[in-house]
This record gives sequence, structure tokens and C-alpha cells, in this order.
Amino acid sequence: MDCTVDHYTTGMLLSAAGDALGYRNQLWEYNQSGPAIHQELQELGGLKNIKVELPDWPVSDDTVLHLATAEALATAKDGEELLHEVAFRYVEGMKDMEGRKPGPSSILGISQLRPGTEGGYRVPYNPEATGCGAAMRSMCIGLRYPHPNQLSSLVGVAVETGRMTHSHPIGFLGAVASALFTAYAVQRRPITTWGLGLLEEACPVAKTFVQSTRYAVTETERDWDYFTEKWKWYLDLRALSSGTGPVNWPDNYGPAERDEAYKSFSLSGWAGRSGHDAPMIALDALLGAGSDWEELMSRAGFHGGDSDSTAVIACCCWGLIHGIDEVPLYNYKNLEYRDRLESVAQKLYVLSH
Ligand SMILES: [Mg+2]
Repeated sequence: MDCTVDHYTTGMLLSAAGDALGYRNQLWEYNQSGPAIHQELQELGGLKNIKVELPDWPVSDDTVLHLATAEALATAKDGEELLHEVAFRYVEGMKDMEGRKPGPSSILGISQLRPGTEGGYRVPYNPEATGCGAAMRSMCIGLRYPHPNQLSSLVGVAVETGRMTHSHPIGFLGAVASALFTAYAVQRRPITTWGLGLLEEACPVAKTFVQSTRYAVTETERDWDYFTEKWKWYLDLRALSSGTGPVNWPDNYGPAERDEAYKSFSLSGWAGRSGHDAPMIALDALLGAGSDWEELMSRAGFHGGDSDSTAVIACCCWGLIHGIDEVPLYNYKNLEYRDRLESVAQKLYVLSH
């Protein structure tokens, strides 16, 4: 079935629901192992019994900044005007971070933005900015530029907005990956081809784009290869290097095994924390879960790493593909910022269709 406005709404809504579920008001993000979270989930009556609403299930920094990106894109601005708009909304978004645990590079980068002044959407190169903070707020860029012939716009906006906080390529290429995967979801492209598309279609466009901007080119080229090498490694691991499958899964791949596997994807043992592995875990979950919402959350949102940031990406794509019918109503009915999420989704659909 073609991607409709309802799919757009579902994508935005479920990304925020996945954020709130994976975060669990600071209790689950990083704080528990996958098996421990699954145990607690059972004690709560299972996913279908969780009412995702305030005060116990707030959205985290991921959704606040994803909304900022989305609402800036929904203004229909482009070029530098759009980048100033995004920077302005990131600065505003930081005023709404009480209890939402924003990451260090996001705090630093946004504090350096000067929207409205010349070049004020650029910050100094930060070699530490490898985190997933750009990836977690960029899915909506794929909703604004979903068509194959818009790839250069998608990549350019993902790189420039990503670099507002995450100027290291591990960081901003994560934004490219999140945006690309939602565009692929809109296109109904087979999930087994997404990783290959990232490496062979989007990354070369991103590199050429970086060179054309003449900003931090030397540093960016120096630090470029880790992201692409690790993604090649992952595609080999899952037998997806040619984009066809069948996917190569381990014999046992439950919550405990996934915690170990996700760590092996990571830069330094913190699963999903970085720009390359947050979308990688999201893709792994999408490949394994099929149309099963509980299985998707189990894989993408209930693990021992940065569970909210892997869930926002996976759930956005899943919602775009599968829609809302199979998702328990209480998982999203009273979700924080539901009105804003639905309203911006509708605007992005109209702008892109
Ligand atoms: Mg978060």
C-alpha cells in the first residue's frame, strides 16, 4: 500500500511513543540490561498494558528535538533560511529539557548556535561529537524529501542540521542514515537494501556535499572512514552486502544475546550511543520484527543501551510501513505532544506529496 498521510502521522507518533517507552522517565535508558527490562515489562503487564502518558512516561530530548527539526521543515523554507529556522528551533527546544536528559554534544553545539546572524548555524568542529544526537532528530527530513530524485536535498539538510551539534562524521552521517531510512520507508523500498543504499547512494553524495561547503573539510575527511567501514562490517555480518538477503541471524538472538551483539556494533561498548550504531540497531530491529509491534519494541527499545534513541528511529520507519492498526491504543493515545506530532506530520505530507 502506498504511503498515506495516516502513515506519516503514525510515523511521527510512534517515534515519540518509542522514545517515551525506551526512556521510561530515565529508568531504562542505559540503566538496565535488556533481560532486566523485559522482566520489568512483564511485571507491568506487558507492552499492551502500558499507558504512555505523563507523568510516568514523558518523551525525552529525542522527541523535543525531532519536533524542532520537523516544525522547521514544515515552514517550507529552504537553503540558508531553513538552516537558521532549524537552529532557532533547536535553541528553543533546549528550554524544554527538564527531566529529558539531552546529550553533551547537543547541549554544547546548540549553545554555540547564533540563528539569525551570518553563518550562525555553523559551530566549530568538535572531534568528540560522535553521538546519536543528530540521528535521533532527523527522521522527519526523509518525510520532507521522500522521493528518490530529492536525495541531494535530503543529504544536504541532514548534513547541515546534523553538524549544528554533531560535526564529526560518525555523528552527522547518523542523521543522513535516519533521514534516508524514513525516505526508503515512504518509497516502500525493501528493508534488506537500506544499508547498501546508505553506503553506495547516500554516503558518496554526503562526501561531495561536505567538500562543496568548504567547512571543516580536512577534519571531516580525516574522520570519515569509521562510519562506512562499520556499516560494511554490519552488512557482511547479516549477509546484506548485496542487498538481497536472506538475512543471516544468530541461532539464539533474545534480549541477552542482543545486548552483546549491539555492544559489538558500538564505538566503545555503549550500544546505540553513536551516530552509526543507533540507526544500525534500528535497522536490525526492523529486519527482525516484521509487522510485529511488540517484537519491534523488544528489539529496538528494550535493551541495555541508548534504548530511546534506537527506538525513535525504528518506530518512525515501522509506523510509515505498517500503520497504527496493530498498536495498542494506550501506547500512544495520551502521548505527550501528540497534537504537535500529528499536526506537523500532516504539513510534511502536504509539502512532499
Ligand atoms: Mg533521549
